[in-house]
Amino acid sequence: MVARIINGKQRAASLRQEIAIGVEHLRAQRGITPKLVAILVGDDPASALYVRRKGEQAASVGMHSESHQLGSDISQARLLALIETLNRDEAVHGILVQLPLPPHIDKAAVLRSIDPAKDIDGFHPVNVGMLASDSEAASDRIVPCTPMGCMMLLADEIASLEGLAAVVVGCSNIVGRPMAQLLLQARCTVSIAHIHTRNLPDLIARADILVSAAGAPGLIRGSWIKPGSVVIDVGINRVPGEAGQGARIVGDVCFEEARMRASAITPVPGGVGPMTIACLLENTLRAAIAQTALQGSARFRSARSSDPA
Ligand code: NAD
Repeated sequence: MVARIINGKQRAASLRQEIAIGVEHLRAQRGITPKLVAILVGDDPASALYVRRKGEQAASVGMHSESHQLGSDISQARLLALIETLNRDEAVHGILVQLPLPPHIDKAAVLRSIDPAKDIDGFHPVNVGMLASDSEAASDRIVPCTPMGCMMLLADEIASLEGLAAVVVGCSNIVGRPMAQLLLQARCTVSIAHIHTRNLPDLIARADILVSAAGAPGLIRGSWIKPGSVVIDVGINRVPGEAGQGARIVGDVCFEEARMRASAITPVPGGVGPMTIACLLENTLRAAIAQTALQGSARFRSARSSDPA
């Protein structure tokens, strides 16, 4: 079997189109334009690039965006004061603090200070708890962006996930744990592997769905993969290129081996990566809809989804 290659770039583009329609609806019906604000602390070039891309993509779907670049020596009190101002600003619907933060700042305190209704990364304990408590449909809630994107890619491949065996490699707060929660909500039988897991190949051999977010290049060999499974590779790893070539980006899964066994697989780059920022925009739109207290937001959403793309 040779796997179908899942095109995350194309899927993200169609999601952005759908979001742009939702943004237009909100403007037409309520006179509101969703606004996302990013806070960047320090001058890490990769973080600056991510923040710039988020702003560009927000503009491409018709949202407002703004970024605050703060020096790496900013005090925690001043950062918290800025977040509090943004929390109170009714024109701001989504707030994100680009990670990592400098060591003198308490990351947990910062994430906790964001109004959960504006927490478009989905990292606030209230949103983490909502996801874990299975209280509402995930399709209307803010959930962490990368796992949300993985679920959309899986939904395109598999009509019903119910009863399937899913293995998530990695248990970070950003990817692994929320991914496992979403798969559980989709009624998969979920196993979570991490650095201390024994017999990873045996576990993976039973997975109908494999999601790897370990950050370990080439960790997962093709021979471990259950034939016919769907493989979602979240890993983004920079490795030295061939002689005379620069560094290249690879996933956690040995792609060429795995594509001979899986039924579908995400490439790296071009798989999960492009979905992440698109899902951040989806969360910003969801947050704006919730904050405008639209009576019957479900009706709004179904109008949104029935629009031609
Ligand atoms: P992390 O370092 O916080 O967590 C890594 C997890 O993988 C840990 O739970 C660890 O126990 C587990 N792990 C590491 N090595 C392992 C091994 N050999 N066997 C089993 N488990 C192992 O990382 P993270 O923030 O969750 O990110 C994981 C990867 O996903 C990274 O490569 C990161 O760059 C990538 N990532 C991609 C996107 C995207 O948009 N595509 C978004 C976030 C993270």
